[in-house]
Amino acid sequence: MLIRTRSEVAERVFLEFIREYPEPELLCSSDPERVLDYFSKLGLPSRAKRLIQAVCAVLEECGGEIPCDYRELRRLSGVGDYIARVLLSRVCGKHYSFVDSNVIRVLSRFAGVPLKASEAAGILEEAFAGGDLPPVNVALIDLGSGVCGPRRPRCPECPLREECSYFSSPPAP
Ligand code: SF4
Repeated sequence: MLIRTRSEVAERVFLEFIREYPEPELLCSSDPERVLDYFSKLGLPSRAKRLIQAVCAVLEECGGEIPCDYRELRRLSGVGDYIARVLLSRVCGKHYSFVDSNVIRVLSRFAGVPLKASEAAGILEEAFAGGDLPPVNVALIDLGSGVCGPRRPRCPECPLREECSYFSSPPAP
């Protein structure tokens, strides 16, 4: 819900959504058009169908338990790489990073080279193998959406600036 929308808006929509669908069974048997309304407000209409598919798949194919295995998750309808990684990290407590466009942008600028999602994910998992990956991962998402934006990064406010390649050698205008 946060991908395209400011957190205040996403929070309001999330709270309304969870009030209407407090149980996964309600979401699985919901009117898809109602769910679509919520996700359209967030500019993510395609997510509505995928969310219903994923929730129904967990209920119908996994007995209501989210499987803590990457391959099993990816077999479920509506579950892509990013969602599988989020679930493995946040629900299952496994050592998985989840990188969105914010994380890729921050790490690419920091390293001074364009990174693919799989490279950024690998860098994070290796760098924080000893712990702290989940809070660092979330912090990087926040940093990318709030400070290190796509157009004009606000480097003077950034806690990474002293070691950031982009800050020390910004691209020519
Ligand atoms: S110093 Fe600037 S470019 Fe580097 S991560 Fe921070 S905001 Fe992004």
